[in-house]
Amino acid sequence: MSQTHEFQAEVKQVLDIVIHSLYTDREIFIRELVSNASDAMEKMRLTQLTEKEVFDDTAALEISITTDEAARTLTIADHGIGMTRAELVENLGTIAHSGSKAFAAALKNAGKQNDAQLIGQFGVGFYSAFMVADKVEVHTHSWRKEGEHLIWTSDGSTSYTIDDSSDQARGCKIVLHLKEDAAEFAQKHRVKQILEKYSNFVSFPVMLDGERVNTVEALWLKSKDGITDEQYTEFYRFAAHAFDEPSYRLHFQAESPIVINALLFTPTQNMESFGMGQMEPNVGLYCKKVLIDPKPKKLLPEWMRFVRGVIDSEDLPLNISRESMQDSALVKKLGDVVVKRLLKHLDKEAVEDPKKYNEFYSNFSRFFKEGIATDYTNRDAIAKLLRFESSMTEPGETVSLSDYVKRMKEGQKEIYYQVATSRSTIESGPYVAAFKAKGYEVLYMFEHIDEYVISSLNKFEDKDLKSVNAPDIDLGDSSEEGEALAEADATSLCDWIKEHLSTQVETVRTGKRLVGSPALVLTPEGEMSPQMRQMMKAMGK
Ligand code: ADP
Ligand code: MG
Repeated sequence: MSQTHEFQAEVKQVLDIVIHSLYTDREIFIRELVSNASDAMEKMRLTQLTEKEVFDDTAALEISITTDEAARTLTIADHGIGMTRAELVENLGTIAHSGSKAFAAALKNAGKQNDAQLIGQFGVGFYSAFMVADKVEVHTHSWRKEGEHLIWTSDGSTSYTIDDSSDQARGCKIVLHLKEDAAEFAQKHRVKQILEKYSNFVSFPVMLDGERVNTVEALWLKSKDGITDEQYTEFYRFAAHAFDEPSYRLHFQAESPIVINALLFTPTQNMESFGMGQMEPNVGLYCKKVLIDPKPKKLLPEWMRFVRGVIDSEDLPLNISRESMQDSALVKKLGDVVVKRLLKHLDKEAVEDPKKYNEFYSNFSRFFKEGIATDYTNRDAIAKLLRFESSMTEPGETVSLSDYVKRMKEGQKEIYYQVATSRSTIESGPYVAAFKAKGYEVLYMFEHIDEYVISSLNKFEDKDLKSVNAPDIDLGDSSEEGEALAEADATSLCDWIKEHLSTQVETVRTGKRLVGSPALVLTPEGEMSPQMRQMMKAMGK
C-alpha cells in the first residue's frame, strides 16, 4: 500500500528554506543524522531493559554508514527503535517532534532575516538531509513486533509517501540521493573527515564502509588536561543538539559523598526567548557511560532547565526504572552536589569576567529570578548571581548584591531598591533623592517580577531588602537646606490634603525623606506595592 501525505505547513516552510538557501555549513547534516541514530539506539538500550518482546532482538547496536560514489548516495543505518507508520507521520511530517522547532519559531519572530544564518543558529534536525539530497528514503521497522516494514520517501517539496516494504531490519536506514553539487558527501574520505570531529562522543560503534571509525570514549570521564576547547564545543553541540557556543562550562569529578563525573554547559542563546514555551530539562543521567535518562525531571531544579550536559555516577544502579529513580535519595544527592558546584562556578566566573557575565545574565536572568522564587535550598547562592542597575552604576552597568553590601555606607542597615519601568522614571521621581543625599545606593529594577522575587528573597547577608517606598524607612535628618514649615502649618496642610484625597490615601504626614520634591506616595505597611498589584493583574489574579 502506498500512501501520500502532505507535510505540515510549518515543515514545508522549513524545507523551502533548507532547500533554497545557500548555507555554507552543509556538512552538519551528518551530525544530525548520526545523532538521531544514536538517540534511537540509546532509547533501544533502555527499551530492552524492560521489554521482553522486541523485533529483531539480536541486531547489533551500531551505526553503519556507507558511501557510493557511482550512485551518488550516502546511507546511514542504525538498529535503534525504528518507527511505526504513525510515528513516521508524526516525527518526519510535523514539526512537533523535530529539532527544527526552534528554527520554525524563530522564523515566525524574525520576519525577513537572513535565513541561512538562522539555520546556522538553530539547525533543522532531520530536515537538514534536504540541504544535500534531492531524494531521501527512510527504511524502517519499529522495535515493536506488530510494526510494519516501511519506506518513507520524499523530495522535500510538499509531500512524502509511505510504502510497504519487506525484510527491513529493526531501526532506520536513511538513504540520501545526493544533489549534484553535494557529490563530495558520497566520498569516503570526506565523510570520514566529518565524522572524526564528534564520532567519539557517540556511545556506539560507528562504521564507515565496514571500517570502525570511532573509539567510544566518554569525554566527561577524561581528564580536563587532554581536552581542547574545540572538543568541548563539539561535544556540547552533539550532546545538547545545539548550534550555539556554550557560554560557560564546568567539568568536574567528585568522590564523595557520591562518585560523580559531570560535564555541564550553559548555552549562549536562551531558547525560551524565541517563543517556544518551556524548555525540557536537558542534562543526561548516565551510569558508567550508559544513558539512563536523557531528560531526568528531578535531577536538577526546574529553574535550571537551560543547563546542558551530562552527569555520570557509577553509584547508580543500572537496572532501576526511571520512575523510581526520579524519587531516589541518590538522585537527589547527585543533584544537590551538582547544583552547588554549578552555582559556585558561575559566581566565580562572574567575578572574574563581569563583562562576559553581564552578557550571559542579560539572556538568562529570568531563570535565576525563578530560582529565587522557587528554590528555597539554593536561594542564597542564586542571590549572589543577580545583577541590577543602581543609582551608582552607569546606565546599562550593573552591581551584584554582594558588591552593594560591600560598599554600604556606615550606618546604613538595609538594602534599598525601587521597581519601575525605566531608569529615567526612577531618577526623575521623588524617591531616590533622599537616599542619594545620604550616599545610600538604590538598586533599580525594571521587571514586574522583580518585586515578587525580591520579596521572596527578603534578606541578603542578613540585611533587609527594602523598597524605597516602604513607610518605615528612617533616613535620619535630610541634608536638604531650606526652611521647614512650622509644625502647625504642616499639620493643617496634611489635613487639607487628606480631606481632598479622602479614600485614596490612608494617612498624610510630614517626613524627612524629601529632597527637591514636595511630596511622595508611600505604600502602607502590609499593603501590596503598585508594581505587585500590576503583576497580579497581569497574571489575572
Ligand atoms: P530531534 O532529534 O531534535 O527530535 P529531528 O528532526 O532530528 O529532531 O528528528 C525528528 C524525530 O524523528 C526524532 O525525534 C525521532 O523521533 C525521529 N527519528 C529521526 N531519526 C530517527 C532514527 N534514526 N530512528 C528512530 N527515530 C528517528
Ligand atoms: Mg535530531
